[in-house]
Amino acid sequence: MSHTASHNACPDCGGLLQGIALFGRGPSNPLSGAAIDTAVLYYTDAGAKRSRWLEMLEEQGTVETSMCTACHRIFLYGIPRRST
Ligand SMILES: [Zn+2]
Repeated sequence: MSHTASHNACPDCGGLLQGIALFGRGPSNPLSGAAIDTAVLYYTDAGAKRSRWLEMLEEQGTVETSMCTACHRIFLYGIPRRST
């Protein structure tokens, strides 16, 4: 079952929820100021271990993110990988 948070109202204030994207930013180059940005798209189990060969975490699903346009609270919804 997929959430459509972007169409729901904020439970705190009733404001409109708008879809947003979260991202992490790596350290910036001191000379150029450039840095690597990575979107937060997946989640996994709290104790998940990295794979032996590629050192990657196994994603358990994707993350849908929205923010209230009135109070700016951010909401995260997990969409399990195996859901239909
Ligand atoms: Zn709100």
